[in-house]
Amino acid sequence: MQIAEIFESIQGEGPWAGTQSLFIRTSGCNLRCWFCDTPYTSWKPEGTAWSLDQLARRVAECSAPDVVLTGGEPMLIPDLVALTKKCHELGRRVTIETAGTVDQPVECDLMAISPKLSNSVPDDPLWRDRHEQTRFRPEVIRALLSRYRCILKFVIDRPEDVEEVIRWMSEFPSADPDIVWLMPQARTREQLSEKSDWLRSLSRRHGFNYSSRLHIEMFGNVRGT
Ligand code: SF4
Repeated sequence: MQIAEIFESIQGEGPWAGTQSLFIRTSGCNLRCWFCDTPYTSWKPEGTAWSLDQLARRVAECSAPDVVLTGGEPMLIPDLVALTKKCHELGRRVTIETAGTVDQPVECDLMAISPKLSNSVPDDPLWRDRHEQTRFRPEVIRALLSRYRCILKFVIDRPEDVEEVIRWMSEFPSADPDIVWLMPQARTREQLSEKSDWLRSLSRRHGFNYSSRLHIEMFGNVRGT
């Protein structure tokens, strides 16, 4: 498995924010969001090859109760199913962070889906169309919603993006607004602070949850935190 980085930190987003976690970040993504905060897994993927046994040993050595499989797009990794099973055998709680465009029969306790809105489309002429055609896979979202405990975590750049979230949700009438988390598009503390006031207010108005990005608040935009 091509792994960009493994590190222990606290979960910074969503309902389990603040939990001590081991992050395993896979390399490679089928999307190219212009605001990607891990370009070393997407625009310029890097990393080293780890075997399933090596990863299982790393999980076993770590005392954190949570394992977060993130990317890039971890659902592209063929051995992900086996890795999730290993994590459960080792007694860890598993979160998968995905854009919701690929399905696999993984074992997980929280499927944190971050669907990509039109605000994510890159200018890059090589990737614009491919990204646009790939970013919304309703059949995958439906399958994940039906099998797992899910949250839907949207990256919001401008206030009008929230209207798009409402239109997006209308495609999935059985999904409760309570599983929606709105999170500012921010790579610095300043950007986070600038967007948090209006986004908290919009989240409240529409019955959605607001998610900060604790890791940016605490560490800034530093890799491996
Ligand atoms: S889906 Fe995630 S990892 Fe992939 S390009 Fe977008 S933000 Fe980056």
